Amino acid sequence: MISPTARLDKIPGIGPATTEKLLSLGLLTVLDLLRILPRAWDDLTQLHQIQDLQPNGQKYTIKATLENPKMFRTSRRRMVLTQATAHDDTGSVDITWFNQPYLVKNLKTETGYYLTGVLVQGKRGLMFSNPSVEIAEKTPIHSGRIVPTYSSIGGLTTKILRRIFLRLIPNLDTIVDPLPSKLVKKWGLLDLDSAIRQLHLPTNTAKLEAAKERLAFDELLGVQLQVQAGKNFLSTSKAKPIPTDLAFIKQVIRELPFTLTNGQKRAIWDLLQDNDKPVPTNRLIEGDVGSGKTIVATLAMFNAARFDFQSALMVPTEVLAHQHYENLKPLADQFNLTISLQTQSKTIGDTSADIVIGTHKLIHKTVEFNNLNLVVVDEQHRFGVKQREALKLAGSNQQKHIYPHFVSLTATPIPRSLALTLFGDLDLSIIPQPPAHRLPIISQAISNSHRKAAYDQIKAQLEMGHQAFIVTPLIETSLKLNAKSVEKEADAIRNLFPNHRVGVLHGRLDSNTKASVMEQFKNQELDILVTTTVIEVGIDVPNATVMLIEGAERFGLSQLHQLRGRVGRSNHQSYCFVIPTEEDIDIMERLELFATTTDGFKLAELDLELRGPGSLTGISQAGFVKFRLADWSDPARIEFAQSAAKELLHLSPTLEDYPQLMEQLNIATPNYHAE
Ligand code: ADP
Ligand code: MG
Repeated sequence: MISPTARLDKIPGIGPATTEKLLSLGLLTVLDLLRILPRAWDDLTQLHQIQDLQPNGQKYTIKATLENPKMFRTSRRRMVLTQATAHDDTGSVDITWFNQPYLVKNLKTETGYYLTGVLVQGKRGLMFSNPSVEIAEKTPIHSGRIVPTYSSIGGLTTKILRRIFLRLIPNLDTIVDPLPSKLVKKWGLLDLDSAIRQLHLPTNTAKLEAAKERLAFDELLGVQLQVQAGKNFLSTSKAKPIPTDLAFIKQVIRELPFTLTNGQKRAIWDLLQDNDKPVPTNRLIEGDVGSGKTIVATLAMFNAARFDFQSALMVPTEVLAHQHYENLKPLADQFNLTISLQTQSKTIGDTSADIVIGTHKLIHKTVEFNNLNLVVVDEQHRFGVKQREALKLAGSNQQKHIYPHFVSLTATPIPRSLALTLFGDLDLSIIPQPPAHRLPIISQAISNSHRKAAYDQIKAQLEMGHQAFIVTPLIETSLKLNAKSVEKEADAIRNLFPNHRVGVLHGRLDSNTKASVMEQFKNQELDILVTTTVIEVGIDVPNATVMLIEGAERFGLSQLHQLRGRVGRSNHQSYCFVIPTEEDIDIMERLELFATTTDGFKLAELDLELRGPGSLTGISQAGFVKFRLADWSDPARIEFAQSAAKELLHLSPTLEDYPQLMEQLNIATPNYHAE
């Protein structure tokens, strides 16, 4: 028998090449491997007859013999096609396989096969398209059962993974359930061992559903335990109050080149009041891109400095850290406050400054704070819970249960009710309106053949002394490819705009280069920035007034909105053009919707609608928490997990009795009650 904790290189039945791949993916133990979950399941238990096949998108398995297998190349697309005709007692159907040249050599006319595929309408009538093939005498793997489909990872295809699990699971020792079995029974859940086996090797639909239910529950429970633990933590811990120096705040506000919106004022007021209490603030400030969240946090940090308290501002990228530093420095100087920048590649000033701005480097042990009492996390959804917790601990005095005040900023729109259920420990301030005098960005979805309109507008804007962003599509699977496509686009743009200065920004550049390109753009030493979505988070260059987004169909509506938020940051009219690579009706309609909708919350909702059921995933994709099986839009299950979490914490207030639970549910474990 194989132990779930065994190392992958120690178990029989997985070849060395596969083991190598798994290890390189960071999967070390059998349990790690088992945590690769299928993304879909097809019930192929039932065998169908050829006469019953329908071109309805459903997968069918037939048992048939093959006739006339032959292979040829298409002249135009240079594709290898393999064709054959399948027969059973009820009829025959033509089959086509694409690009599987090795197939034809192995197909035998006298052998019976299980073939699983979909029936489609081809040029010459109905055909069975690209079916999987298995010899009918053997126990089938890819048919004849409920078949899981995996996303292929690191070169491991769904077929390889099916084989691995088929061999592994019957020989696997019991997986220990981190939840007490009494509660598992009481809650009507499947035990973890059965659940994991069922996900990979389902016996029937009912058991599979129970397995999904169990793992979805675990995900929700993880979040709820954090929320509850956070509440317990808040009610038992203390903070040093930061009084409000109202006269000083007003003086700073008078120096700003703009008047604050009502939403900003309310958020600042909320925050200052929280900070003046002897319990740690835990507030989320939510506002659409460009709503001016930075100044809200800034005023609170300036106020803290008046009472000799230090503040830290943690941001997700070096570029953004740098930008915040550059923006805040003059204002800080004006009021004799010290400010420092701490990133991997650059430090300016030291960590005893009144305000320390940095990336996740701030949570390294080497950063020694000096009376840190206010922690701000910008674009909070970009950070994991653990990183956020770690920064809180940086300023804590755990002997005395004293923690710094904590505020996070986000542009991800979450409906308030959902935010409260999921992040019940947070107080929420919403900045509902962008600054009043802003002109709405004129957005337009245009087809490839009309792209000249976009270039004309870019030219016009550049001639007025403004700047332009050109965003190239993100090819997620290949960073290298992506870098290349950006460079290529930049060359094309240089040809189109020979009299303008064109810069390039993408994730592959080292951080110094990135920072200096951003600085050049900001200082108007570049006119056009050709970039990937690295600019999506928080970059602020008010003089940029036009954006062109290529390959726009690849982005969700919310993400397009985030990108668009990089222009329209001044009182000049701004423009955003979206051009898809493919031009089908659905895509153009979706982009039209984007172009005609300016409200980020509405776009988020539309995203949900368009992406269909099970769908508040926009939020999970935004990285608050990644759910694989749980559903954000199911309040009943969330509430169930909430009460389960309460019950567990009642039994063991710090979960110390369930160490495996903490580990497996991946709960951040700040030592709330450490002595
Ligand atoms: P975000 O909420 O996306 O982080 P920022 O804080 O970066 O937005 O603000 C966007 C831009 O708007 C900045 O240039 C900032 O100086 C400016 N700004 C902030 N508040 C106001 C306001 N009340 N009126 C006009 N401009 C403002
Ligand atoms: Mg911001």
